Parts: sequence; C-alpha cells; structure tokens
Amino acid sequence: MTSETTSVETGATAAADVSPPAAPGGDPAAGSADSAAPSGSPAAPSAGRAADAGPATGAAERTDIVIVGGGILGLATALRLLEARPDLRLLILEKEATLASHQTGHNSGVVHAGLYYQPGSLKARLCREGKEALERFCETHSIPVERTGKLVVALDESELERFAALRERATANGVDGLEEVGPERIREIEPHAAGIRALWSPGTGIVDFRRVAAAYADEVRARGGVIETSREVTSITRLGDEMRVGTTLGDVVARRVIACAGLWADRVAAMTGEDTADAPRIVPFRGDYYTLTADARPLVRGLIYPVPDPRFPFLGIHLTKRIDGNVLAGPNAVLAFKREGYRRTDVSVRDLAGALAYPGFLRLATKYWRTGLAEQWRDWSKRAFVAEVQRYVPGLRSEQLVFGPSGVRAQALGRDGAMVDDFLLGGSDRVLHVRNAPSPAATSSLAVGRVLAEEALGRFGL
Ligand SMILES: Cc1cc2nc3c(=O)[nH]c(=O)nc-3n(C[C@H](O)[C@H](O)[C@H](O)COP(=O)(O)OP(=O)(O)OC[C@H]3O[C@@H](n4cnc5c(N)ncnc54)[C@H](O)[C@@H]3O)c2cc1C
Repeated sequence: MTSETTSVETGATAAADVSPPAAPGGDPAAGSADSAAPSGSPAAPSAGRAADAGPATGAAERTDIVIVGGGILGLATALRLLEARPDLRLLILEKEATLASHQTGHNSGVVHAGLYYQPGSLKARLCREGKEALERFCETHSIPVERTGKLVVALDESELERFAALRERATANGVDGLEEVGPERIREIEPHAAGIRALWSPGTGIVDFRRVAAAYADEVRARGGVIETSREVTSITRLGDEMRVGTTLGDVVARRVIACAGLWADRVAAMTGEDTADAPRIVPFRGDYYTLTADARPLVRGLIYPVPDPRFPFLGIHLTKRIDGNVLAGPNAVLAFKREGYRRTDVSVRDLAGALAYPGFLRLATKYWRTGLAEQWRDWSKRAFVAEVQRYVPGLRSEQLVFGPSGVRAQALGRDGAMVDDFLLGGSDRVLHVRNAPSPAATSSLAVGRVLAEEALGRFGL
C-alpha cells in the first residue's frame, strides 16, 4: 500500500481562520449497527462497503467525506454539511457500539448562556449562536429543554474581584437577562444557597445531550448520511488526490476527512503523519459527580455555580439539576490515568506514561501542583468533596450525597504547559481537526458544526 501523509496546520494558526463555504458531492456508504438507515441521495454510484474499489485500493469503499467520531460534534458537523450539500456522500465512523458514548454522554447537561468566555473568542461567539440553534432544534424535535437559570455565587469578599471580572465578561458577551443580585434575591432564587453576591443568568438551561446527539444522528441518516458504529479508524494516509482511511473493518477511500475524535483528537491528528512537534496534546481530566438523594433534591432548584478560577478552563464543582429531575454535585478535575477511564482505578500505561512524559504536562504540574493535590484529595475523600459542596448549600448533609457518574474531559495542552482555552479547529485542504472542544462545545455543537462544514466546503473543493 503506497501512502503519503497529508499536511495539517496545527495550533493557534489554525484556530484563527474560520471562514465561509463553497462547493459539490454524491451518495453514502452502507454500514453496520447504527447505520441501518437509508443511504440517501443519488449521484456518484460508489457507496456501500466493498463498493466500487479503485485499482489502487483493493476492495475499499468510497465516499466524499469521512467524519471520525460519533460524538455531538461529529454528528452536528455531518448535519450541517448535508444541509448545505444534500448530494454529499458522507460516512461517520464511530469506534464504540453506541453514539455519544464519551464526553457527549458524560457531561453536566447544561445549555450554557456564554458567561465565562473571552469576548470575541470562538467559545463566546459559538456558544451564543449554538445555544439559539440548539434550542430551536430541540423545539422542532420535541426534546425538552428546561430554562432553570443559573446562579454564579460569590461566597465572601475575597471572591468579589473575580466576580466583578466575570460580570464584565458576561456583559461584554451580551448574555440575555443578566442580573447582579444580593443575598435577599439569592435566597428568592435558590432558597438554600449561600452567598453574598451572585450573577443570575435566567437563560441558562438543561438538556439531555445524548438525546440531542441521537436526534442529530436521525437527521443525518434521513439526509442520506451513513453512520457506522463499532468501526475504529486506525490510519489516515494520502492516496493520490484522495485519502485512505484505515479502519478495523477495512479501508475506506474518502476524498476528504474531518476528525471529531474528542479524547483521541491528538492521536487521530498524529495519524496524518505531519503533526508538528508543537501541536497540542490531549490530557484527560476525569471529573466525578455525586448525586443528591431524593429528599435533598428540593435544596437545589436549578444551577448553582462557584465563581470560576480564571487560570483554569474548568468551572469548579457545581450543583446541577438534570432534565430527569436528579441533581448532581460535581465534577472535580483530576488527571485521568486512562483516556476513557471513568473509574478511579482505570489505568492505561500508555495514556499515563504519555501524559507524564509530555513536557507540557510536567510544566503544568510544576506550576499547579497544589491545586492538583487538593483536587486529588477531594477525589478520594468524600468528606472533602461534601465540605466543598456545603459551602454553596450549607443545608446538605453528607448522607444525602451518593457517588454518581463520571466524565472525562479532553483538554488540549500546549508543550509550554498552557491549557488551550478556546475551541481549536484547524487543518489542511484534506483533513480538518477538532483539536480542542471542551465545555461549552455541546451547547455550541450546531455552531461548531456550521463552522467546520463551511471550512470543509471552502477548503476541500468538493
Ligand atoms: C464532565 C464534563 C462536563 C461537561 N459539561 C458540559 C455542559 O454542561 N455543557 C456543555 O455544553 N458541554 C459540556 N461538556 C463538554 C461537552 O460534553 C464536550 O465538549 C462535547 O461532548 C464534545 O463532543 P465531541 O463530539 O467532540 O467529543 P466526544 O463526545 O468525546 O466524541 C468523540 C467520539 O469520537 C470517537 N472516536 C475517537 N477516536 C476514534 C477513532 N479512531 N475511530 C472512530 N471513532 C473515534 C469516540 O469514541 C467518541 O464517541 C462537558 C464535558 C465533560 C467531560
């Protein structure tokens, strides 16, 4: 098999250029598991598995675009592409048996209003656009979204400076209905919350992102896109003017590739062979949640958040009502010893060694070892975790918190030890990558998908 690698821009350069669309395509490939759905629109014949192999490719399938990853971003990007170009042959490859198995299915379920993000950043712009698009989509698809509102609480004077900076940011981001409130109004909104001052964002809401992802997938299939689960992408190489995508179930020849691989973003980018040495790496941060027992749920009406520490991209342990009525407390943020390790005891030697040997991680750890140790301690000690939560809802008792779900965040980290704060999207005229898409990427999914679809159609010349 002859293969050249494709060239991929990385890092900050790529993040900056996000521009509008252009051109054309065909009809999709047939698949397994999740892909029983229609193989949509006509056009170029070559569709299903083992179809129309070119001379250099043996029995490889052919398609216009392969999307790696069936999380919310891969699905949203597929949807936006097919909306813009219904004739496109599009194949989503997901390594797990079920879509949305990782970050999309293990998050807080908050539809963020855009309080936190650097004004003008992709996060700030796409969160706002994405929230509106998501709410419209949910309405059309009868997916419940509850506007619980969010209270970001300053507990004492020492937090007021950070609080003022947050208020400024939220105001600059044009968050709707924002209100600065004192203790009396805090207690009106959340009768059991502590705090001397708070930002009230009435437009923040909650949704089940797994359900949203499933609805995106239905739309993709209805538009002729093909989704194959249990099919892992193992290589991406250049094949003349096309791309050969190696998978656990045989090769696919695609004209172009879009990688939305979440926790594997850096490894999938590295498959293309031209990742530069300074490309950011993914460091997985696990976050554990506790669930409130039924009798404690009335202590939290909506969403109670701390004032975040601006040095970190994580928002701090919060109390979150779920769309199913449960209330979660969490997540904390500790180094995960395995990329998809949801339990404290999950360890992958490769993942752990990779993180520990990465100069970026060592720099981060050297700088923030105190914070890291405190997080680690809270991870092991329920008492410490509960004490943190009780600062916000003092009436909560330890026995009202039971161990709940966990999530692992894909956080891109530069070699210099700086955590990439903004969404990072980039690539070449052959492959596009989502390199960093932490929260609020689920909220922003349709907007991130729009940007990627426009980029793809503009750059790929299909
Ligand atoms: C604990 C936690 C809380 C969060 N809270 C919120 C929140 O409240 N609101 C919000 O907006 N956002 C939140 N987020 C962020 C949000 O969940 C993510 O940004 C979003 O889900 C990212 O979607 P994705 O499609 O990029 O990644 P993922 O959902 O991780 O999907 C990537 C997919 O790629 C697949 N894949 C990887 N490699 C391969 C391969 N080689 N071949 C085939 N498939 C592959 C994986 O199996 C996976 O299914 C939270 C995240 C976490 C972890």
